[in-house]
Amino acid sequence: MSTAERPALEQSRHLATEIPGPRSRELAARQAASVPGALAPTMPVYAARAYDGILEDVDGNRLIDLGSGIAVTSVGAAAPAVVENVQSQVAEFTHTCFMVTPYEGYVEVAERLGEKSPVPGETRTALFNSGAEAVENAVKVARAYTGRQAVAAFDHAYHGRTTLTMALTAKQMPYKHSFGPFAPEVYRVPGSYPLRDGGLDGVAAAQATISALEKQIGADSLAAVIMEPVQGEGGFIVPAEGFLPTVVDWCRENGVLFIADEVQSGFARTGAWFACEHEGIEPDLITTAKGIAGGMPLSALTGRAEIMDSVHAGGLGGTYGGNPVACAAALGVFETIESQGLIEAAQRIEQVIRGHFEQNADDRIGEVRGRGAMMAIEFVDPATGAPDAELCGAVAKAVRETGVILLTCGTYGNVVRFLPPLTISEELLREGLQEVTDALKAV
Ligand SMILES: *Cc1c(COP(=O)(O)O)cnc(C)c1O
Repeated sequence: MSTAERPALEQSRHLATEIPGPRSRELAARQAASVPGALAPTMPVYAARAYDGILEDVDGNRLIDLGSGIAVTSVGAAAPAVVENVQSQVAEFTHTCFMVTPYEGYVEVAERLGEKSPVPGETRTALFNSGAEAVENAVKVARAYTGRQAVAAFDHAYHGRTTLTMALTAKQMPYKHSFGPFAPEVYRVPGSYPLRDGGLDGVAAAQATISALEKQIGADSLAAVIMEPVQGEGGFIVPAEGFLPTVVDWCRENGVLFIADEVQSGFARTGAWFACEHEGIEPDLITTAKGIAGGMPLSALTGRAEIMDSVHAGGLGGTYGGNPVACAAALGVFETIESQGLIEAAQRIEQVIRGHFEQNADDRIGEVRGRGAMMAIEFVDPATGAPDAELCGAVAKAVRETGVILLTCGTYGNVVRFLPPLTISEELLREGLQEVTDALKAV
């Protein structure tokens, strides 16, 4: 059926069966016999369709989506502009390989990213398939430009699951366990985690970071410092004010490139085009993916022209990078964010989430934090402040059984994160948040 003929997906929660229902359980059995168990799902309900704040499963259950497939379907999982662009592109051609015979969509995505990105001055953008691939290429470019090899990443960082990006990622289980050896010349330094570093102010935290960079690596060996301006998988950690600008200034003074990994925080998610904007920092290189193309696989590395152009011809690329259908989807995402005012929508979502947990305060919630529609609550033992992963797991499980897709994260596994589509209705959002509060009361 074309989108025009298909009835709209009703924007209300509806439980037709238990969660997961019989059809999902059947599929789960087939999955277990054909897909490795390493790909264990958060919620074993099989998707049939999704639109704005609702995902409908194969048993006819309509679930409230507070996850967006991990911050991907920010414009919704079937935004009309994305669907239209994809349908018309796929009927023209699906692939030529941009390095063999280029096409306009790629160039247009590069132009739009150049306009929107916080990278100063003239920029260049190269497109890839996944966030990890964009990060790998950021490191390649930084090494080529600086002639240096070392890269510094932070405590609680997440940058992907390939060999190099596993090395950059902090958390052992499940991302790195048993998969070593890891890529060399990657160093880990402390960052800023206001709830857990005794409320160290941003500048003081940055001075500790800089001291580690100078003492343990040495600026003249360091190609780049890479950081998520809001740390994602590590727990939606917003560094204390002043941390990011201080680190970025040090990088600039020492010829070290600053790479902002905005794979999760980018594309309107935090209530700005990019999270760098909240503190006015200007990265040399920025990686984007997730929200970039409404679910089509696409990622990007945008950087200062001088840096990006330092790489020899043929040095960057890949068979599928910047696939024309994915580029068409990305252009639909740019259009949708602007025409539907989704940056403002993300800001409103932050207000609703903060307001809800102010009105429903609980001493087991150690902190409500985040920016825009990238918000989280961290569960603690109220007596000691220690992370409470067990409570977090119990709350998430209970909430999911009510038909709400809810994600967790955090180095200590004690953080519930809210990543709704920016197009979710306020009513559905509030209904989902109330389930979290009800579950917390009940456990
Ligand atoms: C998800 C994520 C990645 C990896 O992206 P993939 O598309 O899964 O390879 C890298 N960096 C950050 C900050 C992410 O959130």
